[in-house]
Amino acid sequence: MMLQTVRGRLTAWYSAVLAATLLLLGLGAWAGLRTSIRDTVDGELRARLRGMNEFFENQAKHPDGESLADELREQAGLTPAGAPLRIADPAGQWLYESIATKGWGTFDPTPGIRTIAAGGEVYRVLTARALPGTLQLGAPLGAFNKVLEDFTWTALLASPILLLLAGMGGYWLSGRALAPVDAITRAARDIGAHDLSLRLPVRGTRDELDRLSDTLNGMFIRLDSAFRRITNFTADASHELRTPVAVIRTTAELARSKPRTAAEYESALDAILAESERTSSLIDDLLLLARADAPGSGLEFEVMDLAEAIRDACQEARVLATARGISLALEPPPRLEIRADRQALHRLLLALLDNAVKYTPPAGVVHVSLSKPSGEVQIAVRDTGVGITPGDLPHIFERFYRASKARRREGHHGGAGLGLSIAQWIARQHGGSITAESEPGSGSRFVVHLPFYSGEVQNPGA
Ligand code: ADP
Repeated sequence: MMLQTVRGRLTAWYSAVLAATLLLLGLGAWAGLRTSIRDTVDGELRARLRGMNEFFENQAKHPDGESLADELREQAGLTPAGAPLRIADPAGQWLYESIATKGWGTFDPTPGIRTIAAGGEVYRVLTARALPGTLQLGAPLGAFNKVLEDFTWTALLASPILLLLAGMGGYWLSGRALAPVDAITRAARDIGAHDLSLRLPVRGTRDELDRLSDTLNGMFIRLDSAFRRITNFTADASHELRTPVAVIRTTAELARSKPRTAAEYESALDAILAESERTSSLIDDLLLLARADAPGSGLEFEVMDLAEAIRDACQEARVLATARGISLALEPPPRLEIRADRQALHRLLLALLDNAVKYTPPAGVVHVSLSKPSGEVQIAVRDTGVGITPGDLPHIFERFYRASKARRREGHHGGAGLGLSIAQWIARQHGGSITAESEPGSGSRFVVHLPFYSGEVQNPGA
């Protein structure tokens, strides 16, 4: 149906408005014309009445013996086609009737102007008192009514043609105006189906349609980057999962390839177990990051003692540190309340401590401190490790990013490059951030900045 398209509806509305305008205009013009004709005719009748009155006065002043009827006949003969006129004496007897008044019928002596139909003609009739009695003057309206009728017919015939032409013009115009919308629709369809990196053409006219294209392009850019992130994430995640699964598989295959001693089986199973644990925690990380992309953090905030959380994390990290011959120094932190998700905060602290221990050679020192400069809480984790090159430093918080040096020693450290990106996400969810500075060869310093909790409930996750 035509009305299903904007173009069709625009044309229909346009035609309806035009039809209403034409109707109003036609009726108005018709009424105006009629009134104007009446006014002209009535004015003429009044002028004639004045003439007649002058004539009667002259007659009364200088009677010349002729009968009034004769005089009137003479007068009437002077006007073209014998103007309709009749006069009655006070008793109601006709003193004079011109031929044109034949068929006017009985006499209504009420003064005024009326329209009467008589003998196939319509007259405007003026009735008035005059010297000899009552006088009636008439003017035929036929010619004028013909003008009105012609006007009506012209308007009735012309309107549909005008409407049709205007409707066609409107249809063409709205088609022209909407053509770019169609073009945008087609282009948008191609982008969705084929390639998110394509963009809609912007014509540079700065009009509504350009703004539409701009808005849609902005949306495509966001979609494209979200899509790329997901694709990259999936590819990186699969890649990271491949290695441990391959290790598990080859260890198992090797153990099964020939009969082994119990001790050999045990060590193979231990290797498989260790690798499975690593895989599990990697999957946990991946799940957390996948959830991080979805709206709503899923974190549960509570008021808790940060000092205690740091002590707990250090205790856990100390096991690994001691095993590697690294000392972990913790400045006795004061009790300090913050609003945080207990588990997430633990995870953040462990990620930093774990890195500090991982990237510090034996006999090194990892130092943890807590401070409270203006408006925020800072947890600093300092190590005397290998450090991070200036080239790597801006990227270490990216997902799956591993500094090239670390990558080479993957076998030893085994990180997937997710720890810091998860830690940074957690810090941001708490309304804070993590910053890093490093001197390659002499150590790194990571600082967690968290908002100071003053007792009022804020919503850091929002
Ligand atoms: P990974 O699992 O590889 O440790 P992270 O996201 O935790 O991944 O860290 C990313 C990279 O940042 C690491 O590969 C490492 O190169 C570098 N890095 C992180 N912490 C330290 C640190 N304390 N000392 C030196 N390099 C570090």
